[in-house]
Amino acid sequence: TPLVELTGVGKSYGNITALRDVSVSVHAGQVTCVLGDNGAGKSTLIKIVSGLHGHDDGEYRVDGEPVRFSSPREALDRGIATVYQDLAVVPLMPVWRNFFLGSEPTSGVWPFRRLDVRKMRETTDAELRKLGIELPDVDLPIGSLSGGQRQCVAIARAIHFGARVLILDEPTAALGVKQSGVVLKYVAAARDAGLGVIFISHNPHHAFLVGDHFVVLRQGEVELDAKRAELTLDQ
Ligand code: ADP
Ligand code: ADP
Repeated sequence: TPLVELTGVGKSYGNITALRDVSVSVHAGQVTCVLGDNGAGKSTLIKIVSGLHGHDDGEYRVDGEPVRFSSPREALDRGIATVYQDLAVVPLMPVWRNFFLGSEPTSGVWPFRRLDVRKMRETTDAELRKLGIELPDVDLPIGSLSGGQRQCVAIARAIHFGARVLILDEPTAALGVKQSGVVLKYVAAARDAGLGVIFISHNPHHAFLVGDHFVVLRQGEVELDAKRAELTLDQ
């Protein structure tokens, strides 16, 4: 059973059809790449998957069960996490603090939080290393890291807080060759750790470095749907 499956999904904004009869699935341990030019419908697709928009037609299933999320929170509760390209981090705060930002219980434990600082630092360090990120120090302000490293911290954070499906929206778009390589390696590590990944890109080269499955959208419709083996030259 796919973690996430859209079947024949359609979505309109007023009289603009953003998606028509789109089917996409995401399996554990695989990267599904969604490619397409501006306006092709990529953002609309991930907004549906992440619970920001409802779909008009077709079906959306998680673990084989039809769903209709009315907020990103509901998708997150099912393990579907979006990692945005512009990370919502506080640049001057240490890496570990950003890692746990927004995760605090809203009541009760305030007086005890100071006691957990050491644990949060250790957890952050351990989670980053688990997928192969070596940071000199989790006490560094996150703003001093490279864009690629910040992206990786955001991915590790999502995994730590229970993501089973990662939605990566153009994770390499703002990065140079070297930093893109850092992020792509990390995406591969997340895949190998058993997550399902939706990788949105308009860069087919980056997609091909990590992708198992490729869906090309064009004017809201699926133009190409292929597995990796169907696209390789050596067969
Ligand atoms: P992509 O992410 O591939 O650039 P989008 O999903 O953003 O594509 O857009 C698909 C189509 O839907 C485009 O024609 C776009 O103009 C239109 N669209 C996207 N968002 C809205 C919106 N909020 N209101 C009206 N039209 C929209
Ligand atoms: P949902 O589809 O879950 O009810 P949406 O955010 O998609 O929530 O908004 C409801 C409807 O409003 C959409 O189906 C779409 O047709 C329309 N809509 C949303 N944003 C725009 C926009 N910026 N311009 C035009 N229509 C929009």
